[in-house]
Amino acid sequence: MLILLKTDASRQEIETVKNRVAELGFTPHEIPGVQRVAIGITGNKAKVSPDNFLTLPGVVDVISVSKPFKLVGRDFKPENTIVDVGGVTFGGNEIQIIAGPCSVESREQILEAAMLVKQSGAKLLRGGAFKPRTSPYAFQGLKVEGLEYLKDAAEKTGLKVVTEVKDTETLAAVAECSDILQIGARNMYNFSLLEKVGDLGKPVLLKRGFSSTIEELLMAAEYILSRGNYNVILCERGIRTFETYTRNTLDLNAVPLIKKLSHLPVIVDPSHGTGAWDLVPPMAQAAIAAGADGLMIEVHAHPEKAMSDGYQSLSPKTFLAMTKQLKKFESVIQRAVAVDA
Ligand code: PEP
Ligand code: MN
Repeated sequence: MLILLKTDASRQEIETVKNRVAELGFTPHEIPGVQRVAIGITGNKAKVSPDNFLTLPGVVDVISVSKPFKLVGRDFKPENTIVDVGGVTFGGNEIQIIAGPCSVESREQILEAAMLVKQSGAKLLRGGAFKPRTSPYAFQGLKVEGLEYLKDAAEKTGLKVVTEVKDTETLAAVAECSDILQIGARNMYNFSLLEKVGDLGKPVLLKRGFSSTIEELLMAAEYILSRGNYNVILCERGIRTFETYTRNTLDLNAVPLIKKLSHLPVIVDPSHGTGAWDLVPPMAQAAIAAGADGLMIEVHAHPEKAMSDGYQSLSPKTFLAMTKQLKKFESVIQRAVAVDA
Protein backbone atom coordinates (compact mmCIF):
# COMPACT_ATOMS: atom_id res chain seq x y z
CA MET A 1 0.00 0.00 0.00
CA LEU A 2 1.14 3.50 -0.83
CA ILE A 3 0.04 6.73 0.81
CA LEU A 4 0.36 9.84 -1.35
CA LEU A 5 0.64 13.25 0.28
CA LYS A 6 0.36 16.66 -1.33
CA THR A 7 3.68 17.70 -2.90
CA ASP A 8 4.25 20.47 -0.34
CA ALA A 9 3.39 18.27 2.67
CA SER A 10 5.14 19.48 5.82
CA ARG A 11 7.58 17.37 7.82
CA GLN A 12 4.99 17.21 10.60
CA GLU A 13 2.31 15.86 8.23
CA ILE A 14 4.75 13.23 6.94
CA GLU A 15 5.69 12.18 10.47
CA THR A 16 2.02 11.96 11.52
CA VAL A 17 1.34 9.52 8.70
CA LYS A 18 4.46 7.45 9.51
CA ASN A 19 3.46 7.30 13.18
CA ARG A 20 -0.03 6.13 12.26
CA VAL A 21 1.46 3.34 10.10
CA ALA A 22 3.75 2.28 12.96
CA GLU A 23 0.84 2.39 15.48
CA LEU A 24 -1.00 -0.14 13.32
CA GLY A 25 2.04 -2.43 13.58
CA PHE A 26 3.35 -1.94 10.03
CA THR A 27 6.57 -0.42 8.66
CA PRO A 28 6.47 3.00 6.98
CA HIS A 29 8.99 3.81 4.22
CA GLU A 30 9.41 7.36 3.02
CA ILE A 31 9.96 6.94 -0.73
CA PRO A 32 12.66 9.23 -2.11
CA GLY A 33 11.41 11.22 -5.08
CA VAL A 34 10.95 14.68 -6.45
CA GLN A 35 7.58 14.37 -8.14
CA ARG A 36 5.54 13.54 -5.05
CA VAL A 37 5.67 12.78 -1.37
CA ALA A 38 4.88 9.12 -0.77
CA ILE A 39 5.00 6.70 2.13
CA GLY A 40 5.02 2.99 1.41
CA ILE A 41 3.68 0.44 3.86
CA THR A 42 5.16 -3.01 4.28
CA GLY A 43 4.59 -5.70 6.88
CA ASN A 44 0.81 -5.91 6.47
CA LYS A 45 -0.46 -9.46 6.06
CA ALA A 46 -3.88 -8.41 4.78
CA LYS A 47 -5.37 -5.37 3.10
CA VAL A 48 -5.28 -2.25 5.28
CA SER A 49 -8.28 0.04 5.10
CA PRO A 50 -7.40 3.35 3.37
CA ASP A 51 -9.68 5.07 5.92
CA ASN A 52 -6.84 4.77 8.43
CA PHE A 53 -4.96 7.45 6.52
CA LEU A 54 -7.32 9.38 4.25
CA THR A 55 -8.44 11.68 7.03
CA LEU A 56 -4.91 12.62 8.11
CA PRO A 57 -3.73 16.12 7.15
CA GLY A 58 -1.81 16.28 3.86
CA VAL A 59 -2.93 12.85 2.56
CA VAL A 60 -4.42 12.99 -0.96
CA ASP A 61 -4.69 9.32 -1.94
CA VAL A 62 -4.09 5.77 -0.78
CA ILE A 63 -3.20 3.19 -3.43
CA SER A 64 -3.18 -0.55 -2.99
CA VAL A 65 -0.18 -2.30 -4.63
CA SER A 66 -0.82 -5.92 -5.51
CA LYS A 67 2.68 -6.86 -6.75
CA PRO A 68 4.82 -8.82 -4.26
CA PHE A 69 7.68 -6.34 -4.56
CA LYS A 70 6.93 -2.92 -3.18
CA LEU A 71 9.92 -0.59 -2.68
CA VAL A 72 11.66 -1.72 -5.89
CA GLY A 73 8.50 -1.24 -7.98
CA ARG A 74 7.58 1.66 -10.22
CA ASP A 75 4.21 1.87 -8.44
CA PHE A 76 6.03 3.01 -5.33
CA LYS A 77 8.60 5.20 -7.11
CA PRO A 78 7.84 6.23 -10.72
CA GLU A 79 11.11 8.02 -11.51
CA ASN A 80 14.38 6.20 -12.26
CA THR A 81 16.75 5.70 -9.36
CA ILE A 82 20.19 7.08 -10.05
CA VAL A 83 22.90 5.21 -8.16
CA ASP A 84 25.79 7.60 -7.61
CA VAL A 85 29.16 5.93 -7.03
CA GLY A 86 31.38 8.89 -6.17
CA GLY A 87 30.27 10.84 -9.25
CA VAL A 88 29.94 7.81 -11.57
CA THR A 89 26.22 7.32 -12.08
CA PHE A 90 24.04 4.37 -13.07
CA GLY A 91 20.47 4.90 -14.27
CA GLY A 92 20.95 8.34 -15.78
CA ASN A 93 21.94 9.25 -19.33
CA GLU A 94 25.39 7.61 -19.17
CA ILE A 95 25.92 3.91 -19.83
CA GLN A 96 28.74 2.68 -17.59
CA ILE A 97 31.22 -0.02 -18.48
CA ILE A 98 32.62 -2.16 -15.65
CA ALA A 99 35.60 -4.14 -16.90
CA GLY A 100 38.41 -6.29 -15.59
CA PRO A 101 39.43 -9.89 -15.08
CA CYS A 102 37.23 -12.56 -13.56
CA SER A 103 39.72 -12.96 -10.69
CA VAL A 104 42.47 -10.84 -9.23
CA GLU A 105 45.57 -13.01 -9.77
CA SER A 106 48.49 -10.76 -8.82
CA ARG A 107 49.34 -7.11 -8.16
CA GLU A 108 50.80 -6.76 -11.69
CA GLN A 109 47.88 -8.49 -13.39
CA ILE A 110 45.18 -6.28 -11.89
CA LEU A 111 47.22 -3.12 -12.41
CA GLU A 112 47.74 -3.99 -16.07
CA ALA A 113 44.00 -4.59 -16.42
CA ALA A 114 43.24 -1.32 -14.63
CA MET A 115 45.48 0.62 -17.03
CA LEU A 116 43.67 -0.93 -19.97
CA VAL A 117 40.25 -0.05 -18.53
CA LYS A 118 41.50 3.49 -17.92
CA GLN A 119 42.82 3.69 -21.48
CA SER A 120 39.36 2.76 -22.82
CA GLY A 121 37.78 5.64 -20.91
CA ALA A 122 35.64 3.32 -18.77
CA LYS A 123 35.37 4.27 -15.11
CA LEU A 124 34.96 1.04 -13.17
CA LEU A 125 37.30 -1.88 -12.54
CA ARG A 126 36.08 -5.36 -11.68
CA GLY A 127 37.99 -8.34 -10.29
CA GLY A 128 37.03 -11.11 -7.90
CA ALA A 129 39.08 -11.52 -4.72
CA PHE A 130 36.68 -13.90 -2.95
CA LYS A 131 35.56 -16.30 -5.68
CA PRO A 132 32.53 -18.54 -5.14
CA ARG A 133 33.56 -21.49 -7.34
CA THR A 134 31.46 -24.49 -8.21
CA SER A 135 34.37 -26.79 -7.30
CA PRO A 136 36.12 -26.54 -3.92
CA TYR A 137 39.33 -27.53 -5.75
CA ALA A 138 39.20 -24.59 -8.18
CA PHE A 139 41.06 -21.30 -7.52
CA GLN A 140 39.18 -19.54 -4.72
CA GLY A 141 40.72 -16.10 -5.21
CA LEU A 142 43.48 -14.22 -3.41
CA LYS A 143 40.98 -13.06 -0.78
CA VAL A 144 42.22 -10.16 1.41
CA GLU A 145 45.46 -9.94 -0.55
CA GLY A 146 43.40 -9.58 -3.75
CA LEU A 147 41.37 -6.77 -2.17
CA GLU A 148 44.57 -4.88 -1.44
CA TYR A 149 45.80 -5.22 -5.02
CA LEU A 150 42.43 -4.02 -6.31
CA LYS A 151 42.50 -1.00 -4.03
CA ASP A 152 46.03 -0.21 -5.08
CA ALA A 153 45.17 -0.47 -8.81
CA ALA A 154 42.12 1.74 -8.30
CA GLU A 155 44.12 4.36 -6.44
CA LYS A 156 46.76 4.46 -9.17
CA THR A 157 44.17 4.86 -11.96
CA GLY A 158 41.27 6.68 -10.29
CA LEU A 159 38.87 3.89 -11.26
CA LYS A 160 36.01 2.75 -9.01
CA VAL A 161 36.14 -0.84 -7.75
CA VAL A 162 33.45 -3.49 -8.10
CA THR A 163 34.17 -6.78 -6.34
CA GLU A 164 32.12 -9.65 -5.04
CA VAL A 165 31.20 -10.15 -1.41
CA LYS A 166 30.74 -13.86 -0.78
CA ASP A 167 29.51 -13.96 2.82
CA THR A 168 28.67 -11.88 5.87
CA GLU A 169 31.97 -12.78 7.58
CA THR A 170 34.07 -10.99 4.95
CA LEU A 171 31.64 -8.14 4.25
CA ALA A 172 33.48 -5.54 6.32
CA ALA A 173 36.81 -6.25 4.63
CA VAL A 174 35.28 -6.19 1.13
CA ALA A 175 33.30 -3.01 1.87
CA GLU A 176 36.50 -1.23 2.86
CA CYS A 177 38.13 -1.83 -0.53
CA SER A 178 35.13 -1.71 -2.86
CA ASP A 179 32.96 1.12 -4.18
CA ILE A 180 30.23 -1.31 -5.28
CA LEU A 181 29.49 -4.58 -3.48
CA GLN A 182 28.74 -7.32 -5.98
CA ILE A 183 26.36 -10.07 -4.88
CA GLY A 184 26.90 -12.96 -7.26
CA ALA A 185 24.38 -15.24 -8.91
CA ARG A 186 25.07 -17.99 -6.35
CA ASN A 187 24.25 -15.63 -3.49
CA MET A 188 21.10 -13.99 -4.81
CA TYR A 189 19.11 -16.01 -2.28
CA ASN A 190 21.49 -15.38 0.63
CA PHE A 191 18.98 -13.33 2.55
CA SER A 192 21.18 -12.58 5.55
CA LEU A 193 23.86 -11.20 3.21
CA LEU A 194 21.21 -9.12 1.39
CA GLU A 195 20.04 -7.70 4.72
CA LYS A 196 23.59 -6.88 5.80
CA VAL A 197 24.41 -4.98 2.57
CA GLY A 198 21.06 -3.27 3.00
CA ASP A 199 22.13 -2.05 6.44
CA LEU A 200 25.50 -0.89 5.15
CA GLY A 201 24.00 1.51 2.60
CA LYS A 202 26.86 1.16 0.07
CA PRO A 203 26.00 0.68 -3.63
CA VAL A 204 25.18 -2.95 -4.44
CA LEU A 205 25.37 -4.80 -7.75
CA LEU A 206 22.88 -7.64 -7.47
CA LYS A 207 23.26 -10.38 -10.07
CA ARG A 208 20.38 -12.59 -11.14
CA GLY A 209 20.60 -16.19 -9.97
CA PHE A 210 21.03 -18.62 -12.83
CA SER A 211 17.67 -20.26 -12.22
CA SER A 212 15.85 -17.23 -10.89
CA THR A 213 12.80 -15.54 -12.30
CA ILE A 214 12.76 -11.80 -12.72
CA GLU A 215 10.27 -11.58 -9.87
CA GLU A 216 12.69 -13.47 -7.59
CA LEU A 217 15.48 -11.06 -8.55
CA LEU A 218 13.23 -8.12 -7.69
CA MET A 219 12.28 -9.73 -4.38
CA ALA A 220 15.99 -10.18 -3.54
CA ALA A 221 16.49 -6.47 -4.24
CA GLU A 222 13.48 -5.76 -2.03
CA TYR A 223 15.44 -7.23 0.91
CA ILE A 224 18.12 -4.58 0.38
CA LEU A 225 15.76 -1.65 -0.14
CA SER A 226 13.63 -2.69 2.84
CA ARG A 227 16.68 -1.96 5.03
CA GLY A 228 16.80 1.60 3.66
CA ASN A 229 19.45 1.09 0.94
CA TYR A 230 18.13 2.28 -2.45
CA ASN A 231 21.58 2.13 -4.09
CA VAL A 232 20.96 -1.12 -5.92
CA ILE A 233 21.95 -1.93 -9.51
CA LEU A 234 20.44 -5.10 -10.99
CA CYS A 235 22.42 -7.33 -13.34
CA GLU A 236 21.20 -9.78 -15.98
CA ARG A 237 23.97 -12.38 -16.39
CA GLY A 238 22.25 -15.20 -18.20
CA ILE A 239 20.07 -18.07 -17.03
CA ARG A 240 20.12 -21.83 -17.45
CA THR A 241 18.13 -23.21 -20.33
CA PHE A 242 18.29 -26.41 -22.42
CA GLU A 243 20.80 -24.73 -24.77
CA THR A 244 24.32 -26.10 -24.38
CA TYR A 245 26.30 -24.21 -27.03
CA THR A 246 26.45 -21.23 -24.67
CA ARG A 247 27.30 -21.26 -20.94
CA ASN A 248 24.01 -19.50 -20.16
CA THR A 249 21.22 -17.92 -22.16
CA LEU A 250 21.44 -14.16 -21.88
CA ASP A 251 17.88 -13.09 -21.18
CA LEU A 252 17.72 -9.65 -22.74
CA ASN A 253 13.95 -9.60 -22.21
CA ALA A 254 14.91 -8.84 -18.64
CA VAL A 255 16.22 -5.39 -19.52
CA PRO A 256 13.09 -3.65 -20.86
CA LEU A 257 10.90 -5.74 -18.56
CA ILE A 258 12.75 -4.73 -15.40
CA LYS A 259 12.84 -1.11 -16.59
CA LYS A 260 9.04 -1.32 -16.81
CA LEU A 261 8.55 -2.98 -13.42
CA SER A 262 11.25 -1.24 -11.40
CA HIS A 263 12.95 2.14 -11.04
CA LEU A 264 16.35 0.54 -10.36
CA PRO A 265 19.20 0.66 -12.91
CA VAL A 266 19.83 -2.56 -14.89
CA ILE A 267 23.14 -3.66 -16.36
CA VAL A 268 24.07 -6.72 -18.43
CA ASP A 269 27.00 -9.14 -18.14
CA PRO A 270 27.44 -10.71 -21.59
CA SER A 271 30.64 -12.49 -20.46
CA HIS A 272 28.87 -14.90 -18.08
CA GLY A 273 25.73 -14.62 -20.20
CA THR A 274 27.39 -16.28 -23.18
CA GLY A 275 30.57 -17.90 -21.84
CA ALA A 276 32.36 -17.23 -25.13
CA TRP A 277 34.54 -14.19 -25.87
CA ASP A 278 33.48 -13.82 -29.49
CA LEU A 279 29.80 -13.57 -28.51
CA VAL A 280 30.47 -10.81 -25.98
CA PRO A 281 30.72 -7.75 -28.32
CA PRO A 282 27.50 -8.47 -30.26
CA MET A 283 25.56 -9.18 -27.05
CA ALA A 284 26.99 -6.05 -25.43
CA GLN A 285 25.65 -4.06 -28.37
CA ALA A 286 22.28 -5.78 -28.08
CA ALA A 287 22.18 -5.02 -24.35
CA ILE A 288 22.65 -1.30 -24.74
CA ALA A 289 20.18 -1.26 -27.64
CA ALA A 290 17.67 -2.92 -25.29
CA GLY A 291 18.10 -0.13 -22.75
CA ALA A 292 20.76 -1.44 -20.34
CA ASP A 293 22.29 1.19 -18.05
CA GLY A 294 25.68 -0.48 -18.13
CA LEU A 295 27.76 -3.53 -18.99
CA MET A 296 30.04 -5.79 -17.02
CA ILE A 297 32.81 -7.21 -19.20
CA GLU A 298 35.56 -9.69 -18.35
CA VAL A 299 38.90 -8.74 -19.89
CA HIS A 300 42.35 -10.23 -19.36
CA ALA A 301 45.79 -9.31 -20.73
CA HIS A 302 46.36 -13.01 -21.53
CA PRO A 303 42.97 -14.80 -21.62
CA GLU A 304 44.67 -18.14 -22.32
CA LYS A 305 46.49 -17.89 -18.97
CA ALA A 306 43.55 -16.66 -16.86
CA MET A 307 42.95 -18.58 -13.62
CA SER A 308 39.17 -18.43 -14.18
CA ASP A 309 36.83 -17.71 -17.09
CA GLY A 310 39.60 -17.22 -19.67
CA TYR A 311 37.49 -18.42 -22.60
CA GLN A 312 34.87 -15.72 -22.06
CA SER A 313 37.43 -12.96 -21.41
CA LEU A 314 38.22 -10.38 -24.06
CA SER A 315 41.83 -9.64 -24.93
CA PRO A 316 42.92 -5.99 -24.63
CA LYS A 317 42.62 -5.61 -28.39
CA THR A 318 39.08 -6.99 -28.66
CA PHE A 319 38.03 -5.03 -25.57
CA LEU A 320 39.19 -1.71 -27.04
CA ALA A 321 37.62 -2.53 -30.40
CA MET A 322 34.35 -3.32 -28.61
CA THR A 323 34.25 -0.07 -26.61
CA LYS A 324 34.90 1.96 -29.78
CA GLN A 325 32.08 0.12 -31.54
CA LEU A 326 29.70 0.73 -28.61
CA LYS A 327 30.46 4.45 -28.80
CA LYS A 328 28.90 4.50 -32.28
CA PHE A 329 25.53 3.54 -30.79
CA GLU A 330 25.23 6.87 -28.98
CA SER A 331 23.41 8.68 -31.78
CA VAL A 332 20.82 5.90 -32.13
CA ILE A 333 20.09 5.28 -28.46
CA GLN A 334 20.42 8.95 -27.51
CA ARG A 335 22.59 8.14 -24.51
CA ALA A 336 26.26 8.55 -23.74
CA VAL A 337 28.47 5.47 -23.51
CA ALA A 338 31.11 6.26 -20.85
CA VAL A 339 34.16 5.25 -22.91
CA ASP A 340 36.46 7.12 -25.28
CA ALA A 341 35.77 7.16 -29.01
C1 PEP B 1 31.59 -12.90 -11.61
O1 PEP B 1 31.09 -11.81 -11.94
O2 PEP B 1 32.80 -13.13 -11.61
C2 PEP B 1 30.70 -14.02 -11.25
C3 PEP B 1 31.13 -15.02 -10.49
O3 PEP B 1 29.49 -13.91 -11.79
P1 PEP B 1 28.13 -14.71 -11.45
O4 PEP B 1 27.89 -14.51 -10.00
O5 PEP B 1 27.14 -13.99 -12.33
O6 PEP B 1 28.35 -16.13 -11.86
MN1 MN C 1 33.87 -14.83 -14.06
